[in-house]
Amino acid sequence: MRLLEDRAAREAVATDRSGHRPDTLPDAVVRARNVDDVVETLRWASAHRTPVVTRGAGSGLAAGSSAHAGQVVLDVSGMDRIVEIRPDDQVAVVEPGVLTADLDAAAGEHGLFYAPDPASAAISSIGGNIATNAGGLRCAKYGVTRDAVLGLDLVLADGRRVATGRQTVKGVAGYDLTSLVVGSEGTLAVVVGATLRLRPKPLETATLAAHFDDVVAAAAAAAAITSARLQPSVLELVDAVTLEAVDAARGSSLRSLGAAALVVQCDGRGALAEIEAVGQVVAPFATTWRATTDPVEAEELLAARRAGLPALEATGDVFIEDVAVPRSKLAEAVAGIQAISARTGVRIATIAHAGDGNLHPIVVVERGATVTEGPPWEAACAVFDLALRLGGTLTGEHGVGLLKRTWLRAELGEDSLDLQHRIKAVFDPLGILNPGKGI
Ligand SMILES: Cc1cc2nc3c(=O)[nH]c(=O)nc-3n(C[C@H](O)[C@H](O)[C@H](O)COP(=O)(O)OP(=O)(O)OC[C@H]3O[C@@H](n4cnc5c(N)ncnc54)[C@H](O)[C@@H]3O)c2cc1C
Repeated sequence: MRLLEDRAAREAVATDRSGHRPDTLPDAVVRARNVDDVVETLRWASAHRTPVVTRGAGSGLAAGSSAHAGQVVLDVSGMDRIVEIRPDDQVAVVEPGVLTADLDAAAGEHGLFYAPDPASAAISSIGGNIATNAGGLRCAKYGVTRDAVLGLDLVLADGRRVATGRQTVKGVAGYDLTSLVVGSEGTLAVVVGATLRLRPKPLETATLAAHFDDVVAAAAAAAAITSARLQPSVLELVDAVTLEAVDAARGSSLRSLGAAALVVQCDGRGALAEIEAVGQVVAPFATTWRATTDPVEAEELLAARRAGLPALEATGDVFIEDVAVPRSKLAEAVAGIQAISARTGVRIATIAHAGDGNLHPIVVVERGATVTEGPPWEAACAVFDLALRLGGTLTGEHGVGLLKRTWLRAELGEDSLDLQHRIKAVFDPLGILNPGKGI
């Protein structure tokens, strides 16, 4: 274990990629090398009643791993071993600091893949993915992180070790503590190991890009794909503001093809036939569309989508919202977001995991301007309100963190929130695990 108290080390872990800037720095950083380091840290923290903020790779977008004075950051990114891959069981056992893309690559050597693929896969950790129940591009077909987690090794707030879940694909013994901890944002326990489900790599893929005159037409096309009972593995939407930023960053000319784009991928046997069917569904909405089975061309289309957020970040400071709506309400949601942008005068770009109804309206402000007050925050709150009115949720995959807590009661209601606080107290009676986050 390394205990660091110098200013540079504390600054490096003070916040994540959300744009939130804490007023003060945490007191210290513990860089854990193994489970014993985590146990020792939590025993000490319990004895001294000191709050602990567990940190993975710090790529979070809800200020979940941000920390301030009086708190200690427990950095588990150094616990980054892939302990084993069991190809016959299609299972991987990993430490929490393994980067998502590294696990996927290692699984690939056995003809398998790790399905949850956040756009941040190259820079986010499995522990952080578990704590936020991360989604991703392929989740339209294969589900989110929770669907890939079979079992967890945890260290509780008082330093005790607990194993939850199982090594098997099925299992219903006891309450499902694994699912409870997935998405708990470091507030219930520290994840020190995980048994994860892998899947056979699809032998065939086919990819389609379609362009549209406006983003509402693109969203309507995405909803039409779902209602046509087609099941793409990737169904992503990108609006004009994002296309312009991507063009500026990559030297492409995607914006000239239309004011919005969909990138769709089908996989498995019959992928080409399914993508052709997708083409027929989107054709009445689109200005142009083209399909390819060339993996290099497909990767280029997906890379343009993944470049969306970094490209926007290059144009200013951003607050990335993460609302989700029923998929049939997607077009209504993007139209509502456009109206909010026009009404408040705030620049909002929209990227969406359209296959999940999960939208990322991205509020872009001038560098250094605050996003959590004034018109940008007013616009963000209007988007939260819109999502709830459409029967949706505040957060599809990034978590509540610090930034969305004031809205949680509106979604969950008094009694559900009360139940959640009581569950937290069972796991963490002293309230030392990431206090003030999540619930
Ligand atoms: C460019 C970009 C694209 C993104 N795209 C996506 C996307 O497509 N889908 C998506 O879901 N997210 C996306 N994100 C958000 C982010 O990458 C995810 O939330 C990710 O799961 C965070 O992982 P991390 O390791 O960086 O966690 P951190 O940011 O370090 O922490 C996130 C939360 O998890 C807790 N935590 C971390 N490790 C542990 C542990 N071992 N035990 C207990 N609690 C822990 C922290 O306390 C915190 O509450 C994106 C971010 C960026 C910057």
